[in-house]
Amino acid sequence: MKIQLHYQIFIAMFIGAGIGLPLNMMAEQGMISEDIPRTIAKYGKGVGDVFLRLLSMIVAPLIFTSLISGVTSSGNLSGLGRLGGRTLAYYISTSMIAIMTGVVMFNIIQPGAHTDVALLEKTREVVTLDVVESGAGLLDTLWNQVFNLIPSNPFAALADPSNKSILGVIFFALMFGAFIVVVGGETAKSLRKVFDGAFAVMMRMTMFIIRFAPIGVLGFMLYASAGKGLGVFVALGWYMLTVALALSIHAFITLPLICVILAKRSPWKFFQSMSPALLTAFSTASSNGTLPLTISCVEKRAKIGNRISSFVLPLGATINMDGTALYEAVAVLFIAQVTPGVDLTIGQQVIVAITALFASIGAAGIPHAGTVMLVVVLGAVGLPLEGIGLILAVDRVLDMFRTSVNVWSDSTACAVMARFESGHDENSS
Ligand code: ASP
Repeated sequence: MKIQLHYQIFIAMFIGAGIGLPLNMMAEQGMISEDIPRTIAKYGKGVGDVFLRLLSMIVAPLIFTSLISGVTSSGNLSGLGRLGGRTLAYYISTSMIAIMTGVVMFNIIQPGAHTDVALLEKTREVVTLDVVESGAGLLDTLWNQVFNLIPSNPFAALADPSNKSILGVIFFALMFGAFIVVVGGETAKSLRKVFDGAFAVMMRMTMFIIRFAPIGVLGFMLYASAGKGLGVFVALGWYMLTVALALSIHAFITLPLICVILAKRSPWKFFQSMSPALLTAFSTASSNGTLPLTISCVEKRAKIGNRISSFVLPLGATINMDGTALYEAVAVLFIAQVTPGVDLTIGQQVIVAITALFASIGAAGIPHAGTVMLVVVLGAVGLPLEGIGLILAVDRVLDMFRTSVNVWSDSTACAVMARFESGHDENSS
């Protein structure tokens, strides 16, 4: 019998903790030499780092092909007009609201403050944060972030080994995709084929690498539990709680309110119509994989016309990820909180929030894509990539929740657009 990947990850987590924790405790009580857990932690981290390196490797090509394929799949020029503008406005605003919810919940719960164990070492220069600390005003820093979105050379941005310029890749890929649609005709057709094909290959490659997640988790779990002890689990528990609560607020309060106020629909009825897609998103952790079902639920069960669903949903599955945006922000703030010597001010949290927004736009709709994007957000603010290893163990569960929120937000976008474009659609529930 083949054990499913998420169970393999859990098993790896338990094995890692089952070996590491007792060793850590025995060393603390002087029963064994401290060198034993230290050596195990060192090799565990070595194994985990290989997995992280593989994730870093696929970031740039995955984002590039995913965005171009996503934007070009949304069809024709008319789609990029008024409906396009409204849809983009909805996508950006709901993602920002989700991020704000995450940031507020983070500041209330302070998940990393419940343990006094230093979970991560500050391994690299904290680049952006240092900029803020060195006296530049918040507005200047924000302006720099926005300015730096435009790559001075997109090819150099793609080739940047530190992945710090990925935001520029996202900006360029979105424009490139939009202009493929603008050019249209045979050119668009053949380019679309090329990028759809390249994206399909990148997805397969990502899924292949993710198959090694249990080994990465085992390595990092050994590193964390043997090296740091029980404090890791306390912090991870609080972290999961923070993400889960913030996602629930977005899914059960914010989006339903949008449904009532903007779409003039009963959120409960709409939720019921969408339930097959939402449950599929939950179990597969893939917005892309769920897309056919999302389209059919929106059209057949919620009775929203194909003109809207065929534009809003494919684009949404690629760039509108409220759950992922929220998760990126909370994860990075958490990693910062458990890194000694890093104490983020509200201004610095705003920078994390903006980077998280772009990371969610760039994330592909496949399992663990948000985790891959953490490479980018952490890199942008100069925090240690090892942080990913720390939260990897609990990532799959959170991925299931955030993917459902992603699909729920795409669906709500359809309901809102159907109301505003009601001349074209039968809005029946
Ligand atoms: N799994 C998510 C999705 O498909 C992306 C992520 O990992 O956050 O929507």
